[in-house]
Amino acid sequence: VASIFSRIISGEIPCHKVYEDASVFAFLDVNPLADGHTLVVPKREVEQLYELSPDECAAIGRVLPMLVQRVLNATGAEGCNVLQNNGKAAGQQVPHVHFHIIPRRSGDQLGYRWNAGKRSEQELAAMAAKLRAE
Ligand code: 5GP
Repeated sequence: VASIFSRIISGEIPCHKVYEDASVFAFLDVNPLADGHTLVVPKREVEQLYELSPDECAAIGRVLPMLVQRVLNATGAEGCNVLQNNGKAAGQQVPHVHFHIIPRRSGDQLGYRWNAGKRSEQELAAMAAKLRAE
């Protein structure tokens, strides 16, 4: 079955479109965290970021700065969060890769602070070595 976002891209389900090109589609989130909350998705449906080809991901990367600029201009927001959740554990609800552009203003009550951890130099070095070896 096609994801809800594929059905939006095909026009089967209505949306408020913001942008479209050959491989990228952007539209307003139906339950926005702030006015102008926009979702940017690859047209080819894959669940997680690592499943995109470099070209597909680059196609998103090429338009992301312009879309962020549009959202900031149109909403007059002071800043924004660009957020991309992969997998249920990370809070992903729709299994079709998407980037959130969430307009922010100081004092907007949305919050966004995670509890940062501490690691020793040794632990950081061991992890970086493991990542480089992947
Ligand atoms: P996730 O939690 O997967 O990162 O984000 C999914 C987002 O998709 C949510 O912010 C949710 O409001 C939005 N969403 C879910 N269903 C629809 C829909 O049918 N139309 C639109 N425009 N947005 C949707």
